[in-house]
Amino acid sequence: MNNPLDLVTKYSRQAPRYTSYPPAPHFREMEDHGPAIELIEKRNTKPRSLSIYIHIPFCASLCWYCGCTKVITRRAGDSTSYLRRLFSEMETLQRQLNPGNRVVQLHFGGGTPTFLSPDELRETGKKIRSLFRCEDDMEFAVEIDPRRLTQDHVAALAETGCTRASIGIQDIREDVQKAINRIQPMEINKRMVGWLRDAGIHKINVDLIYGLPLQSRDSFETTLDEVKVLDPDRFAIFNYAHIPWMMPSQKLMDRHPMPSPHEKFAMLEMMIDNLTRSGYAYIGMDHFAKTGDELTIARKNGTLQRNFQGYSTRADTDIYGFGMSSISQIGEGYLQSVKDLDEYYRRIDDARHPWFRHYYLTDDDRIRRHTIMRLMCDLHLDLSSVDSHWGIDSRTYFGDAFAPLEEMADDGLIQWTTSGFRVTDTGRLFLRNIATAFDAYYSDPEKQGRYSKTV
Ligand code: SF4
Repeated sequence: MNNPLDLVTKYSRQAPRYTSYPPAPHFREMEDHGPAIELIEKRNTKPRSLSIYIHIPFCASLCWYCGCTKVITRRAGDSTSYLRRLFSEMETLQRQLNPGNRVVQLHFGGGTPTFLSPDELRETGKKIRSLFRCEDDMEFAVEIDPRRLTQDHVAALAETGCTRASIGIQDIREDVQKAINRIQPMEINKRMVGWLRDAGIHKINVDLIYGLPLQSRDSFETTLDEVKVLDPDRFAIFNYAHIPWMMPSQKLMDRHPMPSPHEKFAMLEMMIDNLTRSGYAYIGMDHFAKTGDELTIARKNGTLQRNFQGYSTRADTDIYGFGMSSISQIGEGYLQSVKDLDEYYRRIDDARHPWFRHYYLTDDDRIRRHTIMRLMCDLHLDLSSVDSHWGIDSRTYFGDAFAPLEEMADDGLIQWTTSGFRVTDTGRLFLRNIATAFDAYYSDPEKQGRYSKTV
């Protein structure tokens, strides 16, 4: 079967995005924090490279498509109360870390990190630098909502050492913006990119979403062409995750027609063609980067990594997440913090850690995580190197994976090689489907219902 439309019909299925393995729905409720503390102690017997993620959950208005953990408020005082707890959480955990650790990556995500006032951004930057040793060449990325950003916010970001701004744009057409409740004229985006570059923040990412109401292949090409004028270094173009059973606000978009899976597929093909012709390389899944960008180089060198922030160039770092709903990836364990703001405050005020779910990899998880992440990053799998790395015979070990893989080879998604297989150009559009062949948990019907569709 090589007709793309038949492939869409066959492979448009719910599947994880594999920013972790196992995917977060498989993390387990935490009875006590003992094993988590032990894991942190074990990982801190020697100095390591760290990546720090800070979650700022507040947004001033609700975008109806949103699938993030956020709190809608316009009260500025809410961020003051939050930062008090966030700083307290960081201080407590920092005491348990090796003093020789060095932070190589810092990411402010949300919600809306720029909900914080400029002075709060400065204070947060200072606090992090007072608690952790930050490398001089640390990558410091901040997710930005241009709609309420002032020039003083940009000055504050530059003063705190921000090196990369990720700008949420989603779509530039007014009818789409009305349908998703996010009005953001292009002039605001242009003005803000000017401020950022003038302030010395030259690395610019743009986030777009396809699959939103009223979008079509042609309308999205208009968005893409207009946004390219901003000359971003990277694009993250996400497939809209329709999960109204978890995010009821998405039902508010029901009055408008949504693009069909086939139309979405045409949009994906268009954006790959359009951006690759404009000098961007297609990285793994969802991401595009200029030819000389670190992501493109890491992709070519086989050193690309996948984690909760998408793709990263920093290998072998432990990720510590702070703030409500954040997830830490520490060696072979995952820790997730509570998703409710009041509960987060209660736990911090009671001098307790905010984690409520965790997962520690088994030997089998370790092998499968490595295999899935290499596939998601390298777009090929060298089974002989998996064998030598883990001391297994992958043909036997992943026995069940080979029937679906054979079918995908027949459908033109992968091509067998002497040492394993490579993902074809068509297969790249179904990368999540291919990865499911190695996922031991994928057949769990209860959890499968939590994921968005691949196309
Ligand atoms: S999309 Fe971003 S700005 Fe909009 S509600 Fe969600 S987190 Fe907030």
